[in-house]
Amino acid sequence: MEYEAVIGLETHVQLKTRSKMWCACANEFGADPNTRVCPVCLGLPGVLPVANAEALELTVLTGLLLNSSIPRFAKFDRKNYFYPDSTKNYQVTQYDKPSTLGGYVDFEFEGAIARVRITRAHLEEDVGKSTHFDRFSGVDFNRAGVPLLEIVSEPDLRSPDMAFEYLNALKDILHYGGISDCDMEKGMVRCDVNVSVRPKGETKLGAKIEIKNMNSFSGVRRALEYEIPRQIEAVKAGKTLRQETRRWDDDAGITEPMRTKEDAHDYRYFPEPDLMPFEPSDEWLAKVKARVVELPLVRKQRFISEFQLPAGDAEVFKNDVPLGDFFTRAAQGSRNPKGVANWVINNLRSKLSESNTTVAEIQFNPGHLQALVDLVDSGKISSKIAQEVFADVFATGESPGAIVERKGLAQVSDSGAIEKICDEVIAANPRSAEDFRAGKAAALNFLKGQVMKLSKGKANPAMAGEILERKLRA
Ligand code: ADP
Ligand code: MG
Ligand code: ZN
Repeated sequence: MEYEAVIGLETHVQLKTRSKMWCACANEFGADPNTRVCPVCLGLPGVLPVANAEALELTVLTGLLLNSSIPRFAKFDRKNYFYPDSTKNYQVTQYDKPSTLGGYVDFEFEGAIARVRITRAHLEEDVGKSTHFDRFSGVDFNRAGVPLLEIVSEPDLRSPDMAFEYLNALKDILHYGGISDCDMEKGMVRCDVNVSVRPKGETKLGAKIEIKNMNSFSGVRRALEYEIPRQIEAVKAGKTLRQETRRWDDDAGITEPMRTKEDAHDYRYFPEPDLMPFEPSDEWLAKVKARVVELPLVRKQRFISEFQLPAGDAEVFKNDVPLGDFFTRAAQGSRNPKGVANWVINNLRSKLSESNTTVAEIQFNPGHLQALVDLVDSGKISSKIAQEVFADVFATGESPGAIVERKGLAQVSDSGAIEKICDEVIAANPRSAEDFRAGKAAALNFLKGQVMKLSKGKANPAMAGEILERKLRA
């Protein structure tokens, strides 16, 4: 019998706010332990939380980017549990009335567009971070109370690779939307992986195994690559899988049991008494809607449909937003957008890295690039000369037309002038001329090269070739 995997992901993302979720402490990674704390995020008795307005906006903005519906009533609840890095002994989260419901993420997978449905995204708070030393453990509360968004997917994923691509697509969306910096190294995105197996064709779900606290996408993929065959083998051996939580041991490359359903917590959720429910007004929603950006996949598809770019180029411009925006402005109205794309990807990109600058810092007007491509396409300058002009535009910001004019770089397409140079070259290279007449076609290229050299790269190469050939055959 054939088996298939069923995967659903719970992705936790730290929101990009200046301050924490309920207090004015900085939401900042890397400060000395316990220097970004106050009575509120330390969970001292008697304090009152105040909801971070930007976190509420970013949550709803995420919903809009994920095609979710935005309920007009959301509230916060207390999820009670004891944990050393959560001094309050509860986490404030959204339980039955989250800020966003439903939605989906479309992404490229195996040459097609895959869709994973989103169950909900709810707003909660991060906890502190424990560090275990030889003889003792320490807790850093700088992270406690950082706004955390949990994005829950439906069990629509079917393979480790698909989970990996979904996570990358989700991260791209959140990054585009300014929701989160999504810096994995700083733990800004973490993920719980739920996976079960079932016979292919079966519609009922198998027992859910949850792998907790994954902090890299490749880790998620590796954990699934281990866990799925493990489950399938167990089922094939006649064992009954039971719902349980497992932990991923990255060094050993295995998952191991943590706890079973029997010792599942009863979190005793109840409405957070210190916070009002959140009921967004029309004006507030309009303000958030105005922050919606084009989705990465839509952007990539636009580069393909609007400018007829190959998928590889479109992918570059999807991943590098400033570069793609520069291209868009340079290609607008151009007869040769692919030519413009080549210059941006091959030349501009390397110039930027060479000079260690960003698109925002350069004085290169995008219109100048379009003009440069036009100069080449119309035969006004050769592509070799264009390299020189490009370097000048990059260095000075001057227009290509002005540079060509000032430096006298225009391609010579005057047949009289080219004829003269061809005569000179033939006279100076009798052996090559003889070779060509004797049938060595390559000799023409050499002579053509000499014409280009003598004209300082300005002779129209096609014309030079034609004229040389005509003269040699005469
Ligand atoms: P819980 O209430 O324990 O958090 P949920 O039903 O809310 O469980 O689901 C949590 C995540 O697990 C979701 O992403 C969901 O898609 C996924 N999931 C639920 N059941 C299964 C299953 N049988 N196999 C794989 N994933 C599942
Ligand atoms: Mg859960
Ligand atoms: Zn604080």
